[in-house]
Amino acid sequence: MANREFYDVIIIGGGPAGLSAGIYALRASMRTVLIEKASPGGQVTLSDEIENYPGFQNINGYDLSQKFLEHAQSYHLEVLSQEATSLEPGLERHTVQLNGAEQLKSHAVILASGGLPRKLNIPGEDEFYGKGVSYCAVCDGFFFRNKTVVVVGGGDTAVEEALYLSKLAHKVYLVHRRDALRASMILQQRLKADKKIEILWDTILAAIKAGEGQVSAVDLQNTQTGETRELAAEGVFIGIGFNPNNQLVPAGTKVNADGYVCTDEKCETNLSGIFAIGDLREKYGRQIVLSAADGCTAALAAAYYVEVKRAAENL
Ligand code: NAP
Repeated sequence: MANREFYDVIIIGGGPAGLSAGIYALRASMRTVLIEKASPGGQVTLSDEIENYPGFQNINGYDLSQKFLEHAQSYHLEVLSQEATSLEPGLERHTVQLNGAEQLKSHAVILASGGLPRKLNIPGEDEFYGKGVSYCAVCDGFFFRNKTVVVVGGGDTAVEEALYLSKLAHKVYLVHRRDALRASMILQQRLKADKKIEILWDTILAAIKAGEGQVSAVDLQNTQTGETRELAAEGVFIGIGFNPNNQLVPAGTKVNADGYVCTDEKCETNLSGIFAIGDLREKYGRQIVLSAADGCTAALAAAYYVEVKRAAENL
């Protein structure tokens, strides 16, 4: 088994949290590597317009992620395009296993693995994924020009998806299981002002149906009356939140009921030298600016942790 050199800090995940951690770790002279199985950038690359990252009144998500990456690379951040398959905490060293059978060791590990869209788990959802079912309007909306689409959810994601799709589709139905949205007020105002969008309150999707292999309709159910009906639609966009990617979180780490990692104010978990940041971490609000801030906090704390370890080892 090959063994690379030892690192001060290993960062797992290359979204805004991980890349910000990389910038701060390198500025603190930490020997740092960032592991990312896909292209660096994370979920933000899927956003069409970002209007709330300070300093940018309006920027495309991909462009913003490239700016993060270029900034980190200006400090020569080493990026490994591999998948981390396990993290084994140790008293002296933590070990990260890569899928290529290689192992990396470090003083500190910063987990920045983000999350994945939540599923409805209804008939047709998996079967017609890519055939009308999508979790990303910015990625797939183009295919639904002048068509009728359904968006599911009542949070910022669903409302943003509905607003984006209304620029392309003929008609957008926003299906929400309650009678009030969770989305921010500014998005709600835009939604309600959009003539192409119709909100179906107190309604859930019971099934997604297809004709000739492509989505053609959905079965709806009213949660108050129990009444069911079919609605013709060619696209279904599911925006009901996401689950944290916590597969690498070691046994014994404190996580909450939804699987988010609990940390202290330094973003450190209850396992010494293991940090969790961004959408993986339990906190109030999931925003790019918060992920970037987490990356800063964890890298500063990790650098201090590494200095103390080094000093102790040299005694
Ligand atoms: P979210 O805020 O958790 O909202 C999920 C929505 O989906 C809720 O309305 C929920 O209904 C509904 N839902 C959940 N499970 C469902 C199910 N099984 N069937 C039907 N409906 C279901 O998730 P999100 O909208 O993805 O946002 C996540 C975080 O990212 C939030 O903090 C949000 O502010 C942030 N975000 C920000 C932006 C932005 O600022 N531009 C964009 C996107 C996301 P209930 O309301 O009934 O629970």
